[in-house]
Amino acid sequence: MTYRAPVADIAFALKHAAGFAPALAEGIYGDLGEDLVDQVLEEAGRFATEVLSPLNTVGDRQGARFENGVVTTPPGWKEAYAAWAKAGWNGLAAPAQWGGQELPHALNAACIEMWNSAAMAFGLGPVLTMGAVDALTAHGSDEIKRGYLPKLVSGEWTGTMQLTEPQAGSDVGALRTKAERAPDGSYRITGQKIFITYGEHDLTDNIIHLVLARLPDAPSGTRGISLFLVPKFLLNADGSPGVRNDARAHSIEHKLGIHGSPTCTMVFGDQGGAKGFLVGEENRGMACMFTMMNQARLAVALQGVAIAERATQQALAYARERRQGRALGAAAGPSPIIAHPDVKRMLLTMRALTRAARAICYATAVALDRAQRGSDERARTLAHERASLLTPVAKAFATDIGIEVASLGVQVHGGMGYIEETGAAQHYRDARIAAIYEGTNGIQAIDLVTRKLPLAGGATVRAYIDELRATVEAVNAANDPGFGATGARLGETVESLARTTDWLIGPQQNNPETALAGATPYLRLFATAAGGALLAEEALAAARLAGNGAAPARIAIARFFAENLAVGAGGIERSVLEGADSVNTADAALAG
Ligand SMILES: Cc1cc2nc3c(=O)[nH]c(=O)nc-3n(C[C@H](O)[C@H](O)[C@H](O)COP(=O)(O)OP(=O)(O)OC[C@H]3O[C@@H](n4cnc5c(N)ncnc54)[C@H](O)[C@@H]3O)c2cc1C
Repeated sequence: MTYRAPVADIAFALKHAAGFAPALAEGIYGDLGEDLVDQVLEEAGRFATEVLSPLNTVGDRQGARFENGVVTTPPGWKEAYAAWAKAGWNGLAAPAQWGGQELPHALNAACIEMWNSAAMAFGLGPVLTMGAVDALTAHGSDEIKRGYLPKLVSGEWTGTMQLTEPQAGSDVGALRTKAERAPDGSYRITGQKIFITYGEHDLTDNIIHLVLARLPDAPSGTRGISLFLVPKFLLNADGSPGVRNDARAHSIEHKLGIHGSPTCTMVFGDQGGAKGFLVGEENRGMACMFTMMNQARLAVALQGVAIAERATQQALAYARERRQGRALGAAAGPSPIIAHPDVKRMLLTMRALTRAARAICYATAVALDRAQRGSDERARTLAHERASLLTPVAKAFATDIGIEVASLGVQVHGGMGYIEETGAAQHYRDARIAAIYEGTNGIQAIDLVTRKLPLAGGATVRAYIDELRATVEAVNAANDPGFGATGARLGETVESLARTTDWLIGPQQNNPETALAGATPYLRLFATAAGGALLAEEALAAARLAGNGAAPARIAIARFFAENLAVGAGGIERSVLEGADSVNTADAALAG
């Protein structure tokens, strides 16, 4: 089944749950008008639905091919990429100085969701290029910016992000790729990287690798890592691609999913050293890479939303057509399976989780925009802290629910879900990677608990929890019977979050073992409270807008989330507060 971009839902979540409409009204985005925003979303939806979505199955079945160092993308991808880049999608949020349109990151986030719903293995490539643009804009020398940014912004060249080595995955500080200073001021890079997304392909004339490496006299660990730009083809004096650099793909991986995306083992310097150019300062590479990674983490979070949306659409369509048994109250059977309460529950869970994750991701993107465009220094700092707090939540929750929703999608299809023909299985396989790359979800939870909760002495997270409380009060004040027990259940969830947060930033600060053991359930609790509140905000906005026929549906989904999914919060709170001990004292259970 094909994908149809849910443009109206996306626009509504962006404007009314994520805070885009107030940001627009405050003038954060200059003279950008709502009409243009709607036009961009419509056009992106059309492109994703009509051009990219048909590539999804062929990408999965034929995959990327590797032969004699050359990677061939699946049939139709080259033409689709050329059309996509020509339409200017790659530079949507990039600086105007380098040919971009400088539109909001939040708008770009909505588009990234659509590219990835349509074909995740396709949508992944541009995520890396956009990340490279961010890193070079923030840290590149003028010469690097002039030489590379215009082509990366236009999408004529793509970018890669190269951290991982066999012994250095989550532990980036263990990387061994070497960089040596050359007399001409450039560097010679030697070493091997693994799992490099779009490290080699046939979509563009040049590929710009951003490679982390270590200088001979560098300190050990992450403080001794530098970032280098290593082009596949070195540039001629006129800026065009010239001589081939000493960097090549050795092979590509055979994977569970995203078959259309080539995942390469890269070899640098088997002819003496790949020519690289320093980005930022020596030994400050991690700071540069973080610029790239934060954007990339949000983009990967959006992949979770994207795959969940596509799986939900497909499951809904199937459940309306497939007939089995007689539903309660039906005059005669067989009834469409959507009429059975258990199937309905699965579909509502899929929809509610998808929309909650979408709202969290877009809210993170709006915070990133405010951090960049806020009216004064203080507003920008607060927004930066908000974005930092929400990024690991968005990444881990959205990609976890991507897998859960895709799994439910298979379940709704019954046996047909397990058969490749329907495509439900592909979503499940594709979804799995997003919880692993760009920092595993376990690492995201640790980041949230150890680095993000202590931001501004705990003021960042406390201010956020106060906002969630305000939403609960607004639901209660609305006094709309359609909300059922939403206010009460959401209120309990937010207070569970408040208690565990106080506990983590209070007594457990000197007890890292306990905090680390409870980090993953804590992140889920955080996302449950945030997602539930944002769905309620969306419902309240729908009810406020006179003549909005969609209000009952939005209220119903907020209520379903609060009464069926958020109610697990009390159990998660217990797991964080009391369960850590049984994690840390249970080594015997894993012995043998
Ligand atoms: C398809 C694909 C595409 C990829 N694309 C890229 C790319 O473009 N560029 C790139 O550089 N890399 C890429 N990667 C690599 C990816 O980012 C890593 O696989 C990921 O960061 C995890 O590292 P690892 O595989 O070594 O797992 P490990 O680090 O060995 O982790 C294994 C498990 O241990 C846990 N763990 C590890 N350390 C800790 C700790 N300190 N505390 C708690 N738990 C811990 C992890 O959460 C995980 O569950 C890609 C990988 C794949 C499969």
